[in-house]
Amino acid sequence: MSAEESPAPGGAHDFIRAIVADDAAAGRVSTVVTRFPPEPNGYLHIGHAKSMCLNFGIGGEFAGRCHLRFDDTNPVREEQEYIEAIQEDVRWLGFEWGEHLYFASDHFEQLYDWAEHLIRNGDAYVDSQSVDDMREARGTWNAPGRDSPWRNRSPTDNLDLFRRMRAGEFPDGAHVLRAKIDMASGNMNMRDPVLYRILHAHHPRTGTTWCIYPTYDYAHGQSDAIEGVTHSLCTLEFEDHRPLYDWLIDHLPVPRVPRQYEFARLNLASTVLSKRALIALVRDGHVNGWDDPRMPTLRGMRRRGIPPQAIREFISRVGVARADNLVDPAMLDNCVRAHLNLTAPRRMAVLRPLKVVIETWPEDQTDELQAINNPEDEGAGHRPLLFTRTLYIERDDFMEDPPRKFFRLAPGREVRLRHGYFITCREFVKDADGDIVELRCTHDPATRGGGSPDGRKVKGTLHWVSADHAVSADVRLYDRLFTTETPGSGGDIIADLNPDSCVVLDDCRVEPAVLDAAPGEVLQFERQGYFCVDVDSTSERPVFNRTVGLRDSWARVRRNTP
Ligand code: ATP
Ligand code: MG
Repeated sequence: MSAEESPAPGGAHDFIRAIVADDAAAGRVSTVVTRFPPEPNGYLHIGHAKSMCLNFGIGGEFAGRCHLRFDDTNPVREEQEYIEAIQEDVRWLGFEWGEHLYFASDHFEQLYDWAEHLIRNGDAYVDSQSVDDMREARGTWNAPGRDSPWRNRSPTDNLDLFRRMRAGEFPDGAHVLRAKIDMASGNMNMRDPVLYRILHAHHPRTGTTWCIYPTYDYAHGQSDAIEGVTHSLCTLEFEDHRPLYDWLIDHLPVPRVPRQYEFARLNLASTVLSKRALIALVRDGHVNGWDDPRMPTLRGMRRRGIPPQAIREFISRVGVARADNLVDPAMLDNCVRAHLNLTAPRRMAVLRPLKVVIETWPEDQTDELQAINNPEDEGAGHRPLLFTRTLYIERDDFMEDPPRKFFRLAPGREVRLRHGYFITCREFVKDADGDIVELRCTHDPATRGGGSPDGRKVKGTLHWVSADHAVSADVRLYDRLFTTETPGSGGDIIADLNPDSCVVLDDCRVEPAVLDAAPGEVLQFERQGYFCVDVDSTSERPVFNRTVGLRDSWARVRRNTP
């Protein structure tokens, strides 16, 4: 653990909170202001959740505020649809920006004026090299760059050209505005970085008002300054941009001085968090859209049934540091289970049904049993559960010739049906293919409700549903989208897709009480896991997405692999 990562003074639990606490205590800032700055070119994913939890978290903890700022400086890739979806997702995660919604494009006029200020002071010039020449003259990590032949244009010529760029006199790529810093700098970002480029593109907010757009590096720090952001928190890949961030702030008459700090981005094993990769998965049909429950997007996770509280808890457990690491998704699963265990109503659902006839039960008799809805939440109450002569149990819960440690049903064996009776298997029926299609059982009337009057022990308790009352349902069993820890590290991300990431079971039987749940609600199917009612459900046929199993089945797989 480096000094930076050790527990921070004053109860702050990471190095950034320690810096903020220090600045507040020393009076260097009066109101702590942070911002979450998404680019509206895709949907938010769990990596963004880390940034949101940090920025909105600090804004709240220090009685300051956090702005939602769209970094809409590249009209070619940005869309109104994303602007709306991002706001919905930020709110869903539990964060609120109040009146502090901003767009980099709100600041375009001020940014333009400041660009003229740089030009007038000889700190920026219009470069008219071709893109290729510019790239070539930039040098490499080992070799310094070369000055552009246009580097010493006079401020008057630069101003004239820049105004004509704005007026739309030139095609895309004809000129750029560059900061005049140092073509020999060891930091590539300081080799006369581009501040403005010509883009004749329709902008989702400013339409065709502009045909020159500021770059991220130019817009970001200045937007921070305009909005009064005190701590501009970004991921580590911007560390090398910090000298430029500070240079621009130093060379402009900004009203306030923000500071940039970097932290490690969230990397989650067995998934991808790059928007480019996610866009490709959607575009090429490897998943069913941005809200596919296998996607690491917030909308995918929402559709899968993952509660926002579990995501926030997960992010808090991951912590904030500067060291890069790869987080095991099992950690998120555990947070999801911990939350849903407290909130999800228990229900019985048979995913792969096997018919059971209770021979000792009269044809027309129905027993209304009581089942507890959630042992973790007394207030959740009870529900009726109907017991009839014909039931379904899980196919896997019967074996004709079981191994020694199989504690479920087998010929001659007795098990408890959850909330029901003890039953004993007397016979089984096979079809022409030799598959078991029906069990013939007897029941013990003295065991109603699942109790054992004579202290007789049964090892197994099975879930079941009444064949007469059960509802047919589709259940989608989701698994990790990729089979490898670092998808694409072998060169081809598609080759690492898990072919079994979605298995649809279309002959499930669920107890009728599940019909009370609305889309988005999560139930625990006893012994199986947590399942979320999907929006594809109809009133006749519910559809469920498996959120997560009850245990970490992947840990078992990993332990068993040499
Ligand atoms: P991508 O690289 O996937 O395109 P991005 O960083 O370009 O993502 P932005 O919309 O610019 O996407 O991100 C908004 C904010 O979220 C930025 O401050 C960015 O640093 C942060 N962010 C993005 N991905 C992660 C991550 N994996 N972990 C932590 N923060 C992240
Ligand atoms: Mg970005």
